[in-house]
Amino acid sequence: ASYPFRWRRVLLKVSGEALSGDGTQNIDPKITMSIAREVAAITRLGVEVAIVVGGGNFFRGAHWVGASGLDRASADQIGMMATVMNAIFLQASMESLGVPTRVQTAFRIHEVAEPYIRRRAIRHLEKGRVVIFGAGTGNPFFTTDTAAALRAAEIGAEVVLKATNVDGVYDSDPKKNKDATLLEHVSYREVAIKGLSVMDITAITLCQENCIPGIASHLFSLFRMNLTLKIVTLPELEAL
Ligand code: UDP
Repeated sequence: ASYPFRWRRVLLKVSGEALSGDGTQNIDPKITMSIAREVAAITRLGVEVAIVVGGGNFFRGAHWVGASGLDRASADQIGMMATVMNAIFLQASMESLGVPTRVQTAFRIHEVAEPYIRRRAIRHLEKGRVVIFGAGTGNPFFTTDTAAALRAAEIGAEVVLKATNVDGVYDSDPKKNKDATLLEHVSYREVAIKGLSVMDITAITLCQENCIPGIASHLFSLFRMNLTLKIVTLPELEAL
């Protein structure tokens, strides 16, 4: 029997900044609930969803290097812990809607979450549980975009979707340039050549090398996302 949806297993990257909503607080529960509702809807359709969450709403390592003598590796460890806070919050939102959710972290925080174990993560997905990956890749000098590309490749996700505050890929930053135009289709190659700040280059390269379509062509705004619809109706994404 043919599968009714374009994708069976998706990796959703939720940036930390998007979680802060209008930015008056680190996390806006309205945003986490709207993400949870969307994810719950597609999970109930039978699509497996794994989430990599960022931490920029709390802490971005690079910004703090030098403050009080903080070195990059230590600053990034704080950043990775920030992603765990978001993961726990999102998990609560998901479970309040009755969607079983597991958090797996790239470094161990035994009392709080499971450690990342690839096969176990896949098993959770197969059982219909949402898996939230916290702590990025577990390594300083990386980003959660790269963690998203890495986990997508590891669990065999068919697409990486990125939820941000912007509704698509623009040729320049729409917040700074009112003439910025929305690009309908963008290949990974174009993202790299034009220096579009969609995702960092490490993440783009990983997606490209593993033929994972996604992010580059279709970002979607958290405020306007309708994952359910997009999952079913999006035209084929480019993986060039
Ligand atoms: N981080 C890291 N290694 C990783 C992922 C994240 O060191 O594999 C740290 C880094 O300091 C980063 C912070 O965690 O600034 C928050 O992640 P990111 O900036 O990717 O979050 P987002 O931009 O999605 O909110």
